Amino acid sequence: MSQAIAPLIDPFARAISYLRVSVTDRCDFRCVYCMSENMTFLPKSDLLTLEELDRLCSTFVGMGVQKLRITGGEPLVRKGIMTFFRAMSRHLASGALKELTLTTNGSQLGKYATELVDCGVRRINVSLDTLDEKKFAEVTRWGRLPQVLEGITAAKAAGLRIKINAVALKGFNEDEQFSLTDWCAREGHDLTWIEVMPMGDLGNEDRLDQYWSLRDLRASYAERFTLTDLAERSGGPARYVRLEETGQKIGFITPMTHNFCESCNRVRLTCTGELFMCLGQEDMADLRAPLRASPDNAALESAIRAAISRKPKGHDFDYSRQKVAGQMTRHMSHTGG
Ligand code: SAM
Ligand code: SF4
Repeated sequence: MSQAIAPLIDPFARAISYLRVSVTDRCDFRCVYCMSENMTFLPKSDLLTLEELDRLCSTFVGMGVQKLRITGGEPLVRKGIMTFFRAMSRHLASGALKELTLTTNGSQLGKYATELVDCGVRRINVSLDTLDEKKFAEVTRWGRLPQVLEGITAAKAAGLRIKINAVALKGFNEDEQFSLTDWCAREGHDLTWIEVMPMGDLGNEDRLDQYWSLRDLRASYAERFTLTDLAERSGGPARYVRLEETGQKIGFITPMTHNFCESCNRVRLTCTGELFMCLGQEDMADLRAPLRASPDNAALESAIRAAISRKPKGHDFDYSRQKVAGQMTRHMSHTGG
């Protein structure tokens, strides 16, 4: 790994300490808001190898990245992925990396939970929008709820702290706001609601129709509970409240608002080595070319610095005029939500 060198600071004086890495564009589900049913995936040869992912992530760690979130597509369907987690655990052991985590649909947790813990993973995000088996099959198209619930049970038993991420979808899981909340309370999981984002092609699913404002969701919590805003911020778009009656912490991710951009500490790497400096902007830097050009990291490091020097102030998503402005053509599975 490269030695600690000057940290990554962008033009707005934000230190880049958080890297989200998509390790595959593939998935065993086809969630309606994320993928189309007939996805064409990248040829395997376009993907960074596990060794290249290791080298790239290690370079970022050497440049001051302290938190690594592994995502996808579904990260746990990438062949040999545990080799990568094992490799990253050496940066936890050295103290350079403070947190290694992942976002998963949960389908493979039954298989990998224990090994993830062994690699130093302590907390995970599991995406789960509904506890109704039929609705789950509908929204994920290919997913099966029992398999995911078994995965979550295995993760909990292995000692992983679990945060459930639910995409708020109008007319779909509005009626489950409290049952999902109660289930999380019983199971000891945190819960975060995500506003649906205008990613990918709208296709048959018009995301404006699916749009359930988190302001409304919050208001209905307030009818039942006393809410206390928590100061805690992750440098990302999540805000948290505590439900005083149960002590439960609920998160809200509203990526459409600009109010988190000034504290943005993160960049995203795709499975082909494209670095996106902002989820809501098209600008990216190709890191695969400098990575493959030389076994030496000098060119790679300068490409990373050049990219960070272009990190924009904020993004342009806007639902407010009843049309989707700033809509991105990338699928979430590409940049890894
Ligand atoms: N497959 C993993 C999973 O589902 O957790 C990781 C990748 S997935 C792209 C990451 C997160 O993005 C998931 O929580 C998913 O619900 C969310 N997501 C996907 N498409 C979205 C959209 N259009 N709007 C908001 N969130 C979305
Ligand atoms: Fe797969 Fe996650 Fe996208 Fe669903 S949200 S299709 S599980 S990548």
